[in-house]
Amino acid sequence: MSVAKNLENIRERIVAACERSDRNPDDVHIIAVTKYVSLDRTQEAIEAGIHHIGENRLEGFLNKYEHIKDQASWHFIGTLQSRKVKHVIDHIDYLHSLDRLSLTREIQKRASRTVSCFVQVNVTGEATKHGLAPEEVDPFVEKLREYPAIRVIGLMTMAPFTGDEKVIRNCFRSLRELRDRIQQKQYSHAPCNYLSMGMSNDYEIAVEEGATHIRIGTKLVGKETE
Ligand SMILES: *Cc1c(COP(=O)(O)O)cnc(C)c1O
Repeated sequence: MSVAKNLENIRERIVAACERSDRNPDDVHIIAVTKYVSLDRTQEAIEAGIHHIGENRLEGFLNKYEHIKDQASWHFIGTLQSRKVKHVIDHIDYLHSLDRLSLTREIQKRASRTVSCFVQVNVTGEATKHGLAPEEVDPFVEKLREYPAIRVIGLMTMAPFTGDEKVIRNCFRSLRELRDRIQQKQYSHAPCNYLSMGMSNDYEIAVEEGATHIRIGTKLVGKETE
């Protein structure tokens, strides 16, 4: 299936989810996650009208960034090891996986401009997932005030892998409530307006629950086995 066709289908579903939840579809940004696909397929996505590209590994990111550069905004959505920060930090527009002070310090040291970050939250406490526990988020965000290279624009999570819609919805809802609480504090370094949540299998629920950035790989650009 062409990316254009997939995108059309996803946009229709976003519009429907927005109608159900009384939201404006313009507030939902689609990030094409290209980690499973080639440079060619990534370029096809851009031609289809995608403005945001997400990669979760240094190698995949550099391989695509080298050719695409500023034809897209770049989202680093995977765990970022501190020693790799210097290779990506001045090229990416958004980091979705800020979850520790050691990473924060490294970004502060290496970045030559402010980095827009989502703080990653492990809402349901799954052992296999990265991210802060919900109760750790506010103290962490408060501490980030000391690091002018960091701007907290929102929170990010991955829902549990389950067919149980209620579990997924609760996860997204909890993240939104946490976001609302931080937003109310009106930290100048952490406006925290955005919610990065929702992937191929759960983005419609995420949109209903307030997602502003959905990260879609398989259902948008597909998954190539290389
Ligand atoms: C791979 C990945 C996605 C996209 O996953 P799909 O299920 O293919 O849409 C989204 N977010 C993160 C953090 C990922 O690693």
